[in-house]
Amino acid sequence: KTQPGWVAVEDFLTATVVHPDDALRRAVSSAVDAGMPPIEVTPNAGKLLKLLVQISGARRVLEIGTLAGFSSIWMAQGLPDGGRLVTCEYLTKHAEVARANVAAAGLADKVEVRVGAALETLAALHAEGQEPFDFVFIDADKEHDADYLEWAVRLGRPGTTIVLDNAVWEGAVLDPSMDDVNAPGIIQALQLLGNHPQLEGTVIQTVGSKGWDGFALARVR
Ligand code: SAM
Repeated sequence: KTQPGWVAVEDFLTATVVHPDDALRRAVSSAVDAGMPPIEVTPNAGKLLKLLVQISGARRVLEIGTLAGFSSIWMAQGLPDGGRLVTCEYLTKHAEVARANVAAAGLADKVEVRVGAALETLAALHAEGQEPFDFVFIDADKEHDADYLEWAVRLGRPGTTIVLDNAVWEGAVLDPSMDDVNAPGIIQALQLLGNHPQLEGTVIQTVGSKGWDGFALARVR
């Protein structure tokens, strides 16, 4: 079966424009070696996250869903000196692989991987009275997307940037029977985004090696 043209174009754009470094390539290959699912963002999306961190001037980033740390490393590479990224991961094995990748990228002083169910980690961050996060990337279990969006508002401040991945899910947002585990959570999050008094957002559709998908971009009012 021939690849769709957009996969070849993605490869061309990654090689021509995006230029992931050795640490980022290691994060992807280590996940494959550890038998983890290849569900990290694409390199062009990872670079977009880095650029959004830089353009927004974020110093404190919160990530929900670490995997092997590929998107964590992209975003941490966009942080200024003294910047911090906290990333939430449910599985100990994933967190260990991610910590090794973060250390290999020279970012161990900036990145903290917290293990546990994200809803519990987020409540703990709130209870600790952490400084507000300037940028939040949501990419974990889609069932809880709406809860994560609410937490992003609560742990953020006016002006916080939020990116929510997998907002189109092969079109399942129009036909939840395509995936009755994930689609209802994504739809609920999009409805919340569209109606939330403290959020203003949009959704960009994407195609590439991860198929037909998209991401929501939002700002806390
Ligand atoms: N953001 C990563 C990247 O692009 O490199 C990919 C994250 S992957 C799509 C989703 C991750 O969320 C998995 O590692 C999974 O174990 C984790 N996860 C799933 N449910 C979770 C939960 N309730 N709390 C925290 N992490 C969870």
